[in-house]
Amino acid sequence: MSTRKLRVTIWNEYVHEREIPAIREIYPEGIHGCLRRFLSQDESISVTCVTLDMPHQGITRELLNNTDVLIWWSHARQDDITDETVQLVKDAVHSGMGLIALHSAHYSRIMQALLGTTMTLHWRHGDREKLWCVCPAHPIAQGIPACVDIPEEEMYGEVFDIPRPDDVIFIGWFAGGEVFRSGVTFTRGMGKIFYFQPGHEEAPVYEQPEIQKIITNAVHWAAPACRQDAPPQNIAD
Ligand code: ZN
Repeated sequence: MSTRKLRVTIWNEYVHEREIPAIREIYPEGIHGCLRRFLSQDESISVTCVTLDMPHQGITRELLNNTDVLIWWSHARQDDITDETVQLVKDAVHSGMGLIALHSAHYSRIMQALLGTTMTLHWRHGDREKLWCVCPAHPIAQGIPACVDIPEEEMYGEVFDIPRPDDVIFIGWFAGGEVFRSGVTFTRGMGKIFYFQPGHEEAPVYEQPEIQKIITNAVHWAAPACRQDAPPQNIAD
């Protein structure tokens, strides 16, 4: 029996890596290129990359209809995302597409639209993080040690204005004393959502094997068991 590959689309804003030499040095192929490189090592996954500067901001209905899991990294240009792009992604999640929002994408318009809260948090540059696994039985935590050290990371701290998550899988501790719900899951419509905090662009966080394993696990977890062609409709007579 042959099973088809999991179709992952990586959407990256791709601004910092082109504009700031120190960040380009960390991610010469872009953050999406790094994510693609390690996800492609999993033979059950096929990867497509799109970026903000592409036509239609890289997002079309056809692309999302052929996407099992969308990974989203954004920061500097969050406000540029159009209502149309937001609606396409929101509809796709409601109809079963998985969504993984990374780092500053907590504040993306798509996450705000899907979760309905401000998604604000406290932050500070230049810290380190201990990422504690608090839900080891969860599929996203398989093979992940109890604690992952991230030598250089931006501090994200509570209060993190999110709705109550389905599961809190990771809690981040920062050297400044703050803690943060760093890995949380939600369900919206038929779609599974994972928000994962590590991945500030000024440090090679996505090159860490444990971080790569968590994101790969999340792709498998978020993949739809079934995919509807359209968002759930109102049932009327
Ligand atoms: Zn950051």
